[in-house]
Amino acid sequence: MSDSTNFETNAIRSQHERSQHREHSVPLYLTSSFVFEDAEQARALFADELQGNIYTRFSNPNSTEFIDKLCLLEGTEDGIATASGMAAMYISMAGLLKSGDHVLASRSVFGSTHQILTAIFPKFGISYTYADITDAPEEWEKKILPNTRMIFVETPSNPALDIIDLEWLGGLAKKHNVILNVDNCFTTPYLQNPAKWGAHLVTHSATKFIDGQGRVVGGAVLGTKELIKEIRFFARHTGPSMSPFNAWVLSKSLETLAVRMDRHCENALLLAKHLEAHPEVILVKYPFLPSHPQYDLAKKQMRAGGGVVTFEIKGGIDRGRKFLNSLKMISHSANLGDTRTIATHPASTTHSKLTDAERAAVGITPGLIRISVGLEAMQDVIADIEQAMKV
Ligand SMILES: *Cc1c(COP(=O)(O)O)cnc(C)c1O
Repeated sequence: MSDSTNFETNAIRSQHERSQHREHSVPLYLTSSFVFEDAEQARALFADELQGNIYTRFSNPNSTEFIDKLCLLEGTEDGIATASGMAAMYISMAGLLKSGDHVLASRSVFGSTHQILTAIFPKFGISYTYADITDAPEEWEKKILPNTRMIFVETPSNPALDIIDLEWLGGLAKKHNVILNVDNCFTTPYLQNPAKWGAHLVTHSATKFIDGQGRVVGGAVLGTKELIKEIRFFARHTGPSMSPFNAWVLSKSLETLAVRMDRHCENALLLAKHLEAHPEVILVKYPFLPSHPQYDLAKKQMRAGGGVVTFEIKGGIDRGRKFLNSLKMISHSANLGDTRTIATHPASTTHSKLTDAERAAVGITPGLIRISVGLEAMQDVIADIEQAMKV
């Protein structure tokens, strides 16, 4: 493992030890199991007296490299690589909670996280309460019940890009002795480190900016040794492990995360400023725009504003749909965090099943467009948006 204090060096120089072949780039360990040297080693490995690979559902050199690197970048003690972001969200909760427990969550969580909390966990006797990310601190504190075991949030929220004060939330979790779990997918470890502010668990969908090129799905749960130990037991026996191939791809992706994120953020800020001055645009939201209601907080806990910009186009749902149909280069897709710029219209797609009131509660207005700003030349991205607005 690398022991630099610099993000870029750690992201590039922490790699699995070289094999006898002296390879420079870490190879892909495409194997389901590992051989024992003798009966005693096999016994000791199974008894947890020795650290080492047994079977790829438990660990593999590629997933271990990916996780060790992420821990270094997030400032966490231990972690588990998972098959998808949702596997990470699920085991980070299901691996710790039991019937009778309660989760306090931000209303603006990823759609499938919402399904886990509202449709799946109730079957197992785990209840939840939502708070709005913009609610006053007293409102959040009032919703902590005697059986609350975990607080789960995403910041910035998707797609409204509202921000919650992680330092304050870390203090609240500590005061009430509950686990703070932060889905850090939007910002990646390069832009924000929730563990620094007191999060016990940091969860990721690696599918987004960590991969950054729209190729694989993956996820990670990172956190304290104690909590990860408990979650690892759950993961080992329920099997949401990451494939060695995806771990290999994602560990390579981390090597370029800093340069990619710098450019995503630079491009997103440029687009946000352009849109803010646009006559067809009612409102632009981007954490590092001075007009963002929580600009100071964003500056405090984020290194840069991230790769996602949202704006409200004049003309509501119909205009939003027309805008998307008129884009020529920008992809119309539900994903984000890709080299390719992607546009989404949440009111008619990802959040179409909600009522107007429910959408309003999570900051989704009829004409809201979400842009995941890619790495193309920004003249071309802006030109495409301009022509689509004229249609
Ligand atoms: C995409 C996403 C997830 C789910 O990740 P998958 O890799 O698609 O399973 C969870 N949280 C956030 C914030 C996301 O954007």
